[in-house]
Formats: sequence, C-alpha cells, structure tokens
Amino acid sequence: MTDTDALRQDVAIANRILERMGLSHAFGHASARIPGTNTFLMPTRRSPGLAEAGELLVIDTEGRLVSGEGEPNSEFWIHARMYAAREDVGGVVHAHPPACVCLTQIGEPHRVVHNQGAIFSAGVPEYARVGLIRTRELGDLLAKVVGSGKAAMMRGHGITTAFGDVRTATVAACYLEESAALQLRMLAAAGGDASRLRVFTDAEAAPLADQIAGSVSRRAWEYFVALAERNPLGSGQK
Ligand SMILES: [Zn+2]
Repeated sequence: MTDTDALRQDVAIANRILERMGLSHAFGHASARIPGTNTFLMPTRRSPGLAEAGELLVIDTEGRLVSGEGEPNSEFWIHARMYAAREDVGGVVHAHPPACVCLTQIGEPHRVVHNQGAIFSAGVPEYARVGLIRTRELGDLLAKVVGSGKAAMMRGHGITTAFGDVRTATVAACYLEESAALQLRMLAAAGGDASRLRVFTDAEAAPLADQIAGSVSRRAWEYFVALAERNPLGSGQK
C-alpha cells in the first residue's frame, strides 16, 4: 500500500466515523491534505457514512477539482480555505453534531468540563453567521475565525476542527461533541446556571493536552475505527 493509499483509507474511515458517532447523518465530511501539496482528499457529495477510499476526490485550495469522479460536497470551501490559511493543517473535519449546535443556540461558549474537553482549553471561537459555507469568501471567513486555533463552533450549523492530520481532527471532533453533550447535561442539572459548572482552570487543563497526542489519541482512533468497521452504515444496528 502506498502512502496515498493509506491516506485514502484514513479519510474514508474518518468520514464513516463521523456518521457512526452521530456527529453527522446525511451531511458532514472529513478531508486530509496530500502531504507537501496544496491539494486534499475529500469524499463526493454523499453521506460521510458512505465514503469509500477509491471514490475520493482530489481538490486544490482554490476549489478546483484535480482528479476523481463525481461532484464534491457543496461545503468543500471549508476545507480548501483552511488548508490555504494554515500550512500546519493536514486534516479538517466539518460536521453537524447536535450538542455543539445546541450550545451555540443557547449562547453558551464551550467550557472545559471533562478531561478530553481540556484539549480545547484555549477556547472554541464561534462563527456566528448561519447558513452553509458554499463560497470561497465564506471559507476564508471561517478560517479567520479558527485562526491559529483547533476548532470553531458554527451557530445553528455545527463545527469545524483543524489539526495536523485527519485522524487527530476526527478524534478531536468526537471529543468536542462529547464535551458539549456533557456541558448541556451539567447545565440542565444545574437549572441552567452556568456559574455552577466547575470549569477546569487553565492549570488543570494543561497536563491534559496529552489526550490528543501519542498513545491516548491512537487508542481513541483505534476504538472509533473498530466501531465504524464492525457496525457499518446499513448493518441495521447503531
Ligand atoms: Zn455544514
């Protein structure tokens, strides 16, 4: 298997993970930069749960289809302009996870309330404009909101994560949704009083940066892959 074949496998399974983990249903997508280039691998315009390694498109940061058969997802500009803005980014996830969407719509910023959420201790900025990212300009606007950070919440829409590789971007997206879901449960249990949440301090969060690195991240990826492969879309179980 060549490096590109291996990357294609990663992108396909990353997309299927997004669907299996409930971060997206018919919509949402993960992509990976082809190392050392201004091009990236991305699925065609179907549910991420249906992504196949052999059917990925190659698109460049100007939004041009370089190779592959089929129509790209309409929000490919999210990926194109993130890779254009950030040379350090090798993987991008865009999904519509429900708990994250809920947080944006009650005006609550993401807060660190559990260990894996600590990887976002620097804050998750909000892209407040509603609607889809279907132009280069809106892609640039979103990339600007993410800035040098790891993610953005998109009001009434979803999230985008940007990391060094697609595996990490996918694991981080799963962590962010888990964190948001916990935050919502805590808020409900606290009668909606955000001041009662025992939010991690920066000092508490700092040592937990390892939750998205090395063996911890590999273990999370291994688990999500197993979940997606053993229970694929259409198996009748979830
Ligand atoms: Zn979207």
